Amino acid sequence: MTGVLVLLERHAGAIAAASCEAVGVARSIANGGPVVGLLVGPGGAAGATGLGVDRVLLAESPNLDHPSGAQLAVLLAAAADAASSTTIVVPGTARGRDLVGRVAVRWNASAATNVTEVATSGSGALRVTRPVFGGRATEELELPGPRQVLALKPHAFSPPATSPAPTPVEPLALPEGLAKAPALDVRGFQPTVGGKGPELGDASIVVSGGRGVGTPEKFQVVEDLAEAFGAAVGASRAVTDAGWRPASYQVGQTGKAVSPQLYIAVGISGAIQHIVGMVSSRVIVAINSDPQAPIFRVADYGIAGDLFAIVPALTQAVRAARSH
Ligand SMILES: Cc1cc2nc3c(=O)[nH]c(=O)nc-3n(C[C@H](O)[C@H](O)[C@H](O)COP(=O)(O)OP(=O)(O)OC[C@H]3O[C@@H](n4cnc5c(N)ncnc54)[C@H](O)[C@@H]3O)c2cc1C
Repeated sequence: MTGVLVLLERHAGAIAAASCEAVGVARSIANGGPVVGLLVGPGGAAGATGLGVDRVLLAESPNLDHPSGAQLAVLLAAAADAASSTTIVVPGTARGRDLVGRVAVRWNASAATNVTEVATSGSGALRVTRPVFGGRATEELELPGPRQVLALKPHAFSPPATSPAPTPVEPLALPEGLAKAPALDVRGFQPTVGGKGPELGDASIVVSGGRGVGTPEKFQVVEDLAEAFGAAVGASRAVTDAGWRPASYQVGQTGKAVSPQLYIAVGISGAIQHIVGMVSSRVIVAINSDPQAPIFRVADYGIAGDLFAIVPALTQAVRAARSH
């Protein structure tokens, strides 16, 4: 039996999908042991019921309205000790990835990020798999016990079945010094959004446009397709460098790394610096007028043709399909 602690991140008042995936993983490795959620900041226990955790520890204090990574690492270690957990699972969000190293050092644990598979071994070790070299290979690691910290790859796991039973919520005794003013005072937290849609790093569908769209005005064709899907909008660096769209849209080596269920590259050639930021997407669709464009080498589905003929028709088809 292994006790597992999960960080429950809230976005806009609701528990983030990535945290629900983390609960599913926690349940699969707990071997009947307790799965405990940690909620931090204002909002009380809202959203905790039905998640599949056995109980929730709630850390509340005016200084935790916008907790820093350092504060969260202290809280995670304290909550894991309070819950007698031997493993901490954090969601595959930017925040989760930031926390893994901090918590592992503080809690004296072995750690892995970007995990796509996890299994327990009889000795208390965890065997994890994760993509490496931009998704061109997978790596298997054994994390020795007695303590492990995992950050998951977004969308690699399913959330557990929900349960209507109320979840017990208990306050977490705040560790010494945490309730005092932190060394770093985070005054606000604003996720980077790709257009009007979901956050680029969290989105399950991303539609990205490249220089092939031609002008900032014509980039709208990419945004229309994204809107039809309810997807986030991304862009190549050619687009952001030209100022057609803000730098926050950029996918790639010097932009955001994304791994959605579906990535649609529109008018993007497929330079290696772009590929490394999206190659671990589950399904890649490329639309490009040049049949020799390198993007087709990583695409699961390729459409060679003029984007201005293809994308509006696709947008219409998606809208029609979703309206039924
Ligand atoms: C250090 C460094 C870091 C970098 N980091 C990044 C990064 O993070 N992200 C990133 O994206 N790039 C990055 N780059 C830049 C990268 O090398 C490429 O220059 C860039 O990705 C090219 O963008 P693009 O594919 O939109 O443009 P292009 O390479 O110009 O490709 C445009 C594509 O559109 C197609 N096209 C044209 N018209 C149409 C049409 N009507 N219909 C369909 N297709 C059409 C063309 O066939 C072409 O393949 C980096 C470069 C360096 C040196």
